[in-house]
Amino acid sequence: MKTLQQIRRELHQIPEIGFQENKTQAYLLEEIYLLNQERLTIVKWKTGFVVHVQGLNASKTIGWRTDIDGLPIKEQTSLSFESNHEGFMHACGHDIHMTVALGLLRKIIESPIKDSMLFLFQPAEEGPGGALPMREWLKSEHADLFPDVILAFHIAPEYPVGTVATRPGLLFANTSELFIDLHGVEGHAAYPHRTKDMSVAAASLLLQLQTIVSRAINPLDSAVVTIGKMTSGTVQNIISGHARLEGTIRTMDAETMATVKSRIEALCKASEIAFECKVDIDYGSGYYQVFNTEEMTNDFLSFADQDPSTVAIQCDAAMTGEDFGYFLQEIPGLLFWAGVDSPYGLHHAKLNPDETVIDYLVPFAESYIRKLSNHGNV
Ligand SMILES: [Zn+2]
Ligand SMILES: [Zn+2]
Repeated sequence: MKTLQQIRRELHQIPEIGFQENKTQAYLLEEIYLLNQERLTIVKWKTGFVVHVQGLNASKTIGWRTDIDGLPIKEQTSLSFESNHEGFMHACGHDIHMTVALGLLRKIIESPIKDSMLFLFQPAEEGPGGALPMREWLKSEHADLFPDVILAFHIAPEYPVGTVATRPGLLFANTSELFIDLHGVEGHAAYPHRTKDMSVAAASLLLQLQTIVSRAINPLDSAVVTIGKMTSGTVQNIISGHARLEGTIRTMDAETMATVKSRIEALCKASEIAFECKVDIDYGSGYYQVFNTEEMTNDFLSFADQDPSTVAIQCDAAMTGEDFGYFLQEIPGLLFWAGVDSPYGLHHAKLNPDETVIDYLVPFAESYIRKLSNHGNV
């Protein structure tokens, strides 16, 4: 049987983006078919799948979710097991997440627990988002497999191996992409009156968008509206007939997200009138907040605190997004960070997580799950 390190390195070499994880799915299934199948039910869903492990005397199902997708980033780590999918990289650690899930699955098969487990190998976390459709599929097609409680972790470059961090309540923000297209009338630079200049309209809209957080949001709430990319026009002496703003919205609760979106829509409507143009808004993909079940998270933190090989930290909420929030919207549970000690952050082309986290985390997670199975009555 392959070592977990070898599995992680082989997965690292074949990163695939959302809903294209065909090789990844085949690789994982091949590893899982090697295990004792007696208690297993495997059901494929798109490029992901779930594995149900029947408990010895189950009163609930404990879910463990891993994401499986990579990113369209060209790797620059020079590792011997660098990505061999040119232009793609596991730059968010999902190769580590998958390997830990596989390691945990091996342990639970070797030495079964009282409760049942459902391992969710979920595609497309980075976009367009696999958690929500996977949850809906499970609920409607395999309600008997639906977990009663659910867990996941994400690698955290800023902590050393052996540190886990989380917090009860809100951990990750509500997020939404934002694409705004402004359609006007292109024309000669010297005849502005015969055109509808979208560079001016976009510049004005960009500045007005800055008033949303400062003027429409309660100062005690938090929100981010960032336009990271702005494009307009074709050449220096032609007035631009089309401009595009690309950005992202982050908020700490779902209502604030709704407020931000309604202000964006109002400002875009105002631009249409002021600049005689057509403005289209596309929110792209967006993720619901990650809200950890409070009692369970406190219990997890005190469990981690008592583990001699673990440093447990109660961290702050972050403005990053995670589609695991869609599972937590309906299932009690939590997501935690696990340190991997890398000077480069998530989504960085040089991210090189310390893979010894796998050998630390598998037994740690296993013992927490055994505790949940024996005592937890969630
Ligand atoms: Zn990511
Ligand atoms: Zn990630």
